[in-house]
Amino acid sequence: MKSPKATKIPTYAEILHEILSPLTSPIATEELAEKLLQKRPSKARNPRQAALIKIREETGRQLVYLDPDHVVPLHLAYQGARYRIRLTRENVDQTALSGFESFENYLPPSFKLENITFIDSRGTPIPFQIVKPPHTVTFTSEKNVEYQEPVFILKAWFRSQKIFHKHHILVTIADWDQGVLRLECEKLNEQGARLLAERNQHFADSFYEMLETTKYEDIDLRVALPTTYARIPDKNGCPPDHYRVIIDQDPRMITNRWSIHYADGGFTMQDRPFMEATGQSLIAPAESYTKEEGQQVYRLRAQLTQNPSLWREVELQGKQTLENLDGILRDTFEHDIFDHLSGFWKRIARSGGVRKRYREVDLGTINPFEYGEGSDTAITALKLQVGDQLKYVYDFGDWIEHKLVLQSISSPEKGVHYPREVARNKPKYEYCVECQKNGQQTVAIWICYTCSNDEQRDILLCDHCLREHEDHYVKKLLY
Ligand SMILES: [Zn+2]
Ligand SMILES: [Zn+2]
Repeated sequence: MKSPKATKIPTYAEILHEILSPLTSPIATEELAEKLLQKRPSKARNPRQAALIKIREETGRQLVYLDPDHVVPLHLAYQGARYRIRLTRENVDQTALSGFESFENYLPPSFKLENITFIDSRGTPIPFQIVKPPHTVTFTSEKNVEYQEPVFILKAWFRSQKIFHKHHILVTIADWDQGVLRLECEKLNEQGARLLAERNQHFADSFYEMLETTKYEDIDLRVALPTTYARIPDKNGCPPDHYRVIIDQDPRMITNRWSIHYADGGFTMQDRPFMEATGQSLIAPAESYTKEEGQQVYRLRAQLTQNPSLWREVELQGKQTLENLDGILRDTFEHDIFDHLSGFWKRIARSGGVRKRYREVDLGTINPFEYGEGSDTAITALKLQVGDQLKYVYDFGDWIEHKLVLQSISSPEKGVHYPREVARNKPKYEYCVECQKNGQQTVAIWICYTCSNDEQRDILLCDHCLREHEDHYVKKLLY
């Protein structure tokens, strides 16, 4: 990190490191910005603002926000942080703990696990051995990738503590920078299930709140974890589970080794090869539903996003699929039934923030020629409630977007064939420009894009006049 040349100007990150390292308590962002500017004056038009941005850039790298106006250096956020490791029989048999699974993300990003120090409750170092059995992951598309996963063997300590697989190992971070971890054994009869559940819930809710309020749809574990520890009022209280156990138990979220995502948010590009390699399905399993749920009628109002005055209301049954919904929408909006892909997304309101924000969950693509990943999804499986929104895009080239809102869920009517159109906007007819020249008002059916472009106004034509018209690029009008 340090430059060999004394003349080199240190970066903002380096200066912040210098200021943050000796801190023993949180610091106001304004004060930190001032200190930063004293060490390296800024030529920016608004130096204070520029310094605040530099500080924010170090979130998760050097610091986290205690609240909007105060930051905590990471070493302090983690100081005294506690969590627990659950054991398997294999752990106990081998007196071993997996390095990545047990300790990664609880130590500095560049920390070499070989340099870890374990101490017991009296501060005495715990002897251990480190082994690195190769760990192979097979990718379908590439050759095998081999990881060296460090494993800690703590034979003497496991024996002295008489560790049994239902015990928990409590970890306390004694020194984050130096990688000093205090290990304690919690026996089965010492475990308070209710207290632990509350603690885990606190962590889960903290992660989820950060996920809901973040700009994008994932949060870095290197921000989420220390922020939660920095903000918890009683850090030395009951140690929660390892973050991965907490997230795995929460149906709202999933995690890889780097970040936390919405459980229904689809898969990231990083996840896909792993899932393919392990044979996990990329398509959510079809949920089963009762006969009654399958019969229910969903009334959806669909409007063109570009022209909301054009809308239709359609009804279809719970057992019918996104392919059926695609079919009725193509029909009622006069889109081509035999061409172009289309796709559906569920729009879900996010909490936090001043404006109402939505995230979009990909429900899959409909391909008129073959099976698309959304084709078989039953409407009832979407678990829609009145007021819920979907996005429908017809033709990914022209991107004709529609907003769908669920109006009602009701019982089917006897003798009615679903899906069906039940309402549409009152048409606002426009008239043929050629007929108008002769003083006639004929409803226009077509728009000529070639002439409209040339004349910089809409050239609308009736069926009759189109036949007389040159061989131009025309499209049918939608009313
Ligand atoms: Zn005409
Ligand atoms: Zn024309």
